[in-house]
Amino acid sequence: MKGLWFTELQTPELAISLRARRVLHHQRTPYQELAVLETEALGKMLTLDGVIQTTVGDEFVYHEMITLVPLNTHPNPERVLIIGGGDGGSARECVRHPRTREVTMVEIDGAVVEAAKEFLPEIGSGFDCPKLNLIIGDGIKYVQEKRDYYDVVVVDAPDPVGPAVGLFTREFYAQVHAALREDGIMVAQTESPFFNKDLVLKAYQDMQSLFPIARVYLATIPTYPGGLWTFTLGSKRYDPVAVQPETIPPLETKYYSPQMHQAAFVLPPFVNKLLGKA
Ligand code: SAM
Repeated sequence: MKGLWFTELQTPELAISLRARRVLHHQRTPYQELAVLETEALGKMLTLDGVIQTTVGDEFVYHEMITLVPLNTHPNPERVLIIGGGDGGSARECVRHPRTREVTMVEIDGAVVEAAKEFLPEIGSGFDCPKLNLIIGDGIKYVQEKRDYYDVVVVDAPDPVGPAVGLFTREFYAQVHAALREDGIMVAQTESPFFNKDLVLKAYQDMQSLFPIARVYLATIPTYPGGLWTFTLGSKRYDPVAVQPETIPPLETKYYSPQMHQAAFVLPPFVNKLLGKA
């Protein structure tokens, strides 16, 4: 096959390849190897340590689903915290939501934010919004200092390697629980139900042990391993499945809708089995 090909080994036995027109940016940051490539199939793409984080062609699925599900489950999501999310896609969704007032994003690697601003303005379009408070620092340390403050916390983490390992632990979820108000909600991206079964189950069980309501939901994301992706939500009061469609504020979207909100919580039998449900 002719051309420049980018290949990610998604597992030791499975790879995804995209043909690239060119490499727009490449650097080693203090935390990771960052690259922005222009692909033929999905437009510009951000990778960290050779792992696809997002592409302009499919980012809307992930960013709408990780943010709008919790934001539309909470009746008044004024204060939002995003941990990670350096590309800015989650911040963009949170700042454009009509019910948010204050969105804080804590990203450990300032170079990811700078690269998104320069090369991925479609995704990072929320960075200049006055609602956004951007902090370059460790999200794990940040939540330890916040108590009873946020309505919604979005954990937009990469795979659990390096500084992100701690974002997948029960201890971290407990700190997020404490940083939430008495009716707060958290959501985390929790990887593939095909290739990360142990992680999916553990995240669900950890959230179940901390929150009265814990739910897993799904979205289809072409560039993530297996295409089918899980998010795990912990809620102190509001059940995302009980949301009435007429309470959802109108917002132009490409994947999320009131119907998709409901549908995302319908799990195939193999995922229910993985979660220990009948
Ligand atoms: N959507 C993506 C995915 O699932 O592959 C995640 C995107 S976003 C680029 C993830 C960000 O989390 C990265 O920019 C990384 O630098 C950041 N990150 C990793 N560990 C962190 C930590 N402890 N605190 C804050 N940000 C962290």
